[in-house]
Amino acid sequence: MQVAVVGAGVIGVCTAYFLAEAGHEVVVIERRNNVAEEASFGDSGILAPSSIAPWAAPGVPKAFFSHLFKAESPLFFNRALDPALWSWVRRWVKESDLARYQVNRERMQRIAFYSSDIMQQLRDRHQLDYEQAAGYLQLFRSERDLQLAKPGFDFLAAQGIRHDLPDADALHAIEPALNTNTPLAGSLHLPADESGNCPLFTRQIRQLAQAMGVEFHFGCDVKSIRQIARGVDIRIDDYSFSADKIVLASGADSAKLLARMGLNLPVYPVKSYSATATIRNFESAPIASVVDEAYKVAITRMGNRIRLAGTAEFGARSSELRQSALNTLLKVGYDWFPDACNYNTASFWSGSSLMMPDGPPLLGATSVRNVYVNLGHGSTGWAMAAGSGKVLADIVSGRATDIDLDGLTATRFS
Ligand SMILES: Cc1cc2nc3c(=O)[nH]c(=O)nc-3n(C[C@H](O)[C@H](O)[C@H](O)COP(=O)(O)OP(=O)(O)OC[C@H]3O[C@@H](n4cnc5c(N)ncnc54)[C@H](O)[C@@H]3O)c2cc1C
Repeated sequence: MQVAVVGAGVIGVCTAYFLAEAGHEVVVIERRNNVAEEASFGDSGILAPSSIAPWAAPGVPKAFFSHLFKAESPLFFNRALDPALWSWVRRWVKESDLARYQVNRERMQRIAFYSSDIMQQLRDRHQLDYEQAAGYLQLFRSERDLQLAKPGFDFLAAQGIRHDLPDADALHAIEPALNTNTPLAGSLHLPADESGNCPLFTRQIRQLAQAMGVEFHFGCDVKSIRQIARGVDIRIDDYSFSADKIVLASGADSAKLLARMGLNLPVYPVKSYSATATIRNFESAPIASVVDEAYKVAITRMGNRIRLAGTAEFGARSSELRQSALNTLLKVGYDWFPDACNYNTASFWSGSSLMMPDGPPLLGATSVRNVYVNLGHGSTGWAMAAGSGKVLADIVSGRATDIDLDGLTATRFS
């Protein structure tokens, strides 16, 4: 069967790999000139299925809105008058009670833990090295941040997920260079989680996919998709071609393509920022990945560099770099690992991920025949990419999936 995949981010490339492995003829269509050039490029590098949780959590909307007018706010609204934004926010707030949080978190973790197993298999089979490091640490500056995280701790305990709340000595053993002068109310350590370099991983999977015959067409912007008798007709600028089936893995910009096919799904793009700096003092640098929960900024070691990433900006339409968002990244870097880098020499980047209001992604068939989606992974897409790619390949091939897809498909919005 001929299958087209739109988008060569980590999600599209993993999908193509597993479709090829299932024996299909696969074409990836990408408007950029390489793989992992958008959200997958600026990814913070955290692969943390244990801590994956929806943004819609008890107390979080109130805490987010209370930050809104502060310069260092992790949340920013750009198009306050966009009705699609407010419709998304309404759904998000509705999903924030404890019962919905638990349902949504279980759904996200189901695909994330599955993905972790598939990653492990890929790593073992192909000896992948994507600058991975073991362990993941969350830092809570205040009692209020700790209280907000409490449902998450309870969830980890109820699920039997390995975690600990390290005291000062244990924290020092985990991240010896962490600055003890910055106020800290508590921390959470997830030893089974890991971090790495998402673009590097995506480029390696691309090579493996190409070796299985996947064709990559770069510089091709898909304008529309139309059903035809034998499958789908895909229009790219002034020409079109057909395939039996198509998988949309087109990330943040997918709303227009979906709407043109009459698919009305509550997706919304959220912009984030990253700063990447070369390490100058290795003994002062993090070993793995640390997240400052007050500012929602991740600090991740990627080989000889450190990446700082964070901020959720709703309604941004350009890749313009907002100075106050960059200042927040740098502040968090200097607060926790002040001597690791000269952060002011960092290269800055911004990009968007597609978010669902409840949290879990959209995997599988749509109401348009032969059109499938692998979208809406939000801020934890890399941690779900390998598993989502495998699930899509199974569905497109008409095979049973290894995991239950309840709550992970578009039918939850129908
Ligand atoms: C700053 C930042 C930090 C993050 N940190 C983490 C993290 O630590 N851990 C984690 O798990 N996740 C993280 N994420 C989320 C994760 O990076 C994303 O969920 C993931 O990269 C999404 O992959 P994707 O392939 O769907 O999207 P993308 O990488 O954006 O790829 C989509 C591709 O589709 C192409 N495309 C779109 N429309 C068309 C079209 N019409 N025609 C042709 N091509 C098209 C785009 O050019 C793009 O290359 C982070 C995201 C950001 C922005």
